[in-house]
Amino acid sequence: MSSNTSIIELESRYTSGAYPKREIAIVRGQGARLWDADGREYIDCASGHGVALLGHGRPEVAEAIAEQARRLITCPEVFYNDQRARLLERLISLAPEGLTRAFLCNSGAEAIEGAIKFARLATGRPGIVAAMRGFHGRTLGALSATWERKYRQPFEPLVPGFTHIPYDNLDRLAQAVTEETAAVLLEVVQGEGGVRPGSREFLQGARELCDRAGALLIIDEVQTGFGRTGRWFAVEHHDLRPDLMALAKGMAGGVPMGAVLMTEAVAEKIQPGAHGSTFGGNPLACAAALVTIDVLEREDLPRQAAEKGEYFIGRLRRIESPKIREVRGLGLMVGVELRERSTPYLRRLMDRGVLALPAGPTVIRFLPPLVINREDLDQVTETLASVLEG
Ligand SMILES: *Cc1c(COP(=O)(O)O)cnc(C)c1O
Repeated sequence: MSSNTSIIELESRYTSGAYPKREIAIVRGQGARLWDADGREYIDCASGHGVALLGHGRPEVAEAIAEQARRLITCPEVFYNDQRARLLERLISLAPEGLTRAFLCNSGAEAIEGAIKFARLATGRPGIVAAMRGFHGRTLGALSATWERKYRQPFEPLVPGFTHIPYDNLDRLAQAVTEETAAVLLEVVQGEGGVRPGSREFLQGARELCDRAGALLIIDEVQTGFGRTGRWFAVEHHDLRPDLMALAKGMAGGVPMGAVLMTEAVAEKIQPGAHGSTFGGNPLACAAALVTIDVLEREDLPRQAAEKGEYFIGRLRRIESPKIREVRGLGLMVGVELRERSTPYLRRLMDRGVLALPAGPTVIRFLPPLVINREDLDQVTETLASVLEG
């Protein structure tokens, strides 16, 4: 059980088949590097879908998890817990102004489900307006907000009450928001949809439309949160004040965790028993999140993401290739849009030791750990230039 081939054979025999797979077995990581079972090394610009903000194999995270595992792993929220209490205080102290309460859960989709339920609860209205190319997860509620047809269509009928407007189009959003609208649900930078940053006018305009209509603004920071875009939260780039904010991915250093942050006004409408989760707020994930936030802060990783992202985007823009349509991004959330399908290039990048992600059919997405160094970013740039030539 040591080679790529033997692992792939065994896993393939029993897995559901739900995932498109790449033909390597990743078994170890250190910083921004990963190794497959045959000992090949990769620069990781995927971070497990953006999760590994601190890089891989962090001893601080490993120790915090081990220590908490010895003390107490599980403790549902019907009881109070020391780790959870400390994490909630820490989260709220970092959160954008106005977000003073939090519901803890286990994934991005679950955070979106929670945010949708809380918005319906707080407004007594059914409608959710989301955006084309938006991605919010795969559970039925989150999928109803997700736009991509191939994710949705096999599972219809989805949850009623959802509509989609073109992203960054304020006129269309204004038409869609009515007295029936509970919330507008948006990403600040669309991730899966192609690394598309929203404009300040659109996002601020969405806030004003919500205020006028008595609707809530839900911002999905599942991918952008915890420093990825060069600020703790992407809303800070636009002084945007959401009523609800969904978090997950890098929040607990790789341990599954999500959260819904909310205003006092939303929390006031939530009665005991209204929502819940067996694993939500478990002490193990809380301990992992606390140490993750400590390291992000101590190493000033949001600022590092801003500087490295600017450097990386600058380097990528200097690649002279007719195959590139546009390079765009925010912090270390970077997309290279091609004039053709990205899949063959992702494959060639992998063959040359760089792991990246797709974002829609034509965009190559780079989500490296925030600890990645400039030499690695240079090497990624050179590798991309050479696979685009070849
Ligand atoms: C990944 C992602 C989700 C879904 O998160 P899961 O943990 O996979 O359920 C939701 N929203 C955005 C913006 C994401 O990037």
